[in-house]
Amino acid sequence: MSQPKFKVAICGAGIGGLALAVVLSKYAGASVDVAVYEGAAEITTAGAGISVWKRMWTIMQDLGLDVELAKKAIEPPEDAPRPGLAFRKSDGPHPGYNFYEMMNPYGAITLHRADVVDVLMAKIPKSYSIQTSKRMTSYSRRDDGSITMRFADGSSTAADILIGADGVHSPTRKCLFRSMAEDEGVTDPARLEAIDKETGPVWTGTLAYRALVPTEALELVYPGHQACKRGIVYLGKNKHLVAYPIAQGRLINLVPFYTVAGGEGTTFEGKWVTDVSKEEVIDSFSNIEEEAQVLTKCMEKPTRWAIHAMSPLPHYAYGRVAILGDAAHAMTTHLGAGAGQAIEDAYVLGRFLADPAVTIDKVTDILRVYEQARLPFANAIVANATATGYLYEFNGPGWDDNDRSNEDEKLHALGKQIEKQWEWQWTKDFREDWQRAERLLSGVLETDG
Ligand SMILES: Cc1cc2nc3c(=O)[nH]c(=O)nc-3n(C[C@H](O)[C@H](O)[C@H](O)COP(=O)(O)OP(=O)(O)OC[C@H]3O[C@@H](n4cnc5c(N)ncnc54)[C@H](O)[C@@H]3O)c2cc1C
Repeated sequence: MSQPKFKVAICGAGIGGLALAVVLSKYAGASVDVAVYEGAAEITTAGAGISVWKRMWTIMQDLGLDVELAKKAIEPPEDAPRPGLAFRKSDGPHPGYNFYEMMNPYGAITLHRADVVDVLMAKIPKSYSIQTSKRMTSYSRRDDGSITMRFADGSSTAADILIGADGVHSPTRKCLFRSMAEDEGVTDPARLEAIDKETGPVWTGTLAYRALVPTEALELVYPGHQACKRGIVYLGKNKHLVAYPIAQGRLINLVPFYTVAGGEGTTFEGKWVTDVSKEEVIDSFSNIEEEAQVLTKCMEKPTRWAIHAMSPLPHYAYGRVAILGDAAHAMTTHLGAGAGQAIEDAYVLGRFLADPAVTIDKVTDILRVYEQARLPFANAIVANATATGYLYEFNGPGWDDNDRSNEDEKLHALGKQIEKQWEWQWTKDFREDWQRAERLLSGVLETDG
């Protein structure tokens, strides 16, 4: 058997890192050596539900994961119009009303994050190594272009290529921009620190509580609650709740969002992710309608996430290092797009590295093409997701909450605006993006000869 053409180290075994390993296993097989280093003691499944839209589903089909995932979904996706999400005005103690129904021409499915991780893990061949409790602290570049990764346990390892799939805090991203600055001759520690800040995540001012609600418990106290059967967003001033069924309807994924006035762009004091009491959530949502409130009363073991997002990064790759997923473009959750975008990155990057014409001497150029293929699109989604959050909390342009005239008309217009933010999920075909990416790759390979 011939030797692998290079060793790819993947830092982080979240959805993006695991997806990259799956893409490489399908398209490169044993022609590359793959090692995944995960900082946590086990591959985590924290974070409850995840919504999967057409673009991400197209990739799942290509990777042969769709059949297994469809078994875990509340209902398998199909190419037929069906209700997507309902939007409901809920900002007050009086009963609210559903004011907009967003149709989704291609269906979306909702999954438990643990199920997605299990399905990805099952596709990774034994010949690829996955090591846990390997928290990378930094990397350095060797003279031959290869990379040395250093871990918190004092060990280190070498790789030809490093892909940082290490989430919003990404040490890979920090080292990447530091190495770029050093190559540009920046030595001033204050400037280097400023670069860390400019390329790091920023608090959006929003806190998201994530929890699961057992459907049975909800039905007991609120028979026929619509969240048992469908996805719904409850809208209020500076707060909103998202609820949808997962695990074949046994559970409801609940995410109540609470925005702290003046918090956007400030430093979040405290732990970004922490367990909280149920009372904290109930208190924060005590001035909304009963249909939404009851969800907070039935939830189990809530966690609180301080939602951080990235300002658009100018680069996703430098030398033989690239970043993907939240490491490159952590975004607010309002379009259910973070995992899908991580998987799109993984697909493009994995297929590029797997191309038989890509040899180690071409990797720097290839990673630059990956950046060209993915950065404009993913950065645009980050901005799109932020704008959508403003719409959900009656903070969009032109929304004056003191003016209650023509409310029905205004809410309908708001619903349409929200739908516009979402429709790329089904109107922009990922296969066309991939074909464009392939053309970019061919262009570089032809130029390189
Ligand atoms: C409230 C909420 C709701 C969401 N809902 C949706 C949704 O419906 N649909 C959707 O598509 N997305 C959703 N997302 C976003 C989605 O969860 C993320 O965008 C996605 O998980 C990003 O995947 P990733 O692999 O890039 O990063 P992560 O999932 O963060 O994985 C990073 C991995 O790297 C590891 N790691 C970190 N540092 C190191 C290190 N130094 N060394 C080694 N390993 C390290 C971590 O332990 C982790 O396993 C939601 C997010 C939140 C917060």
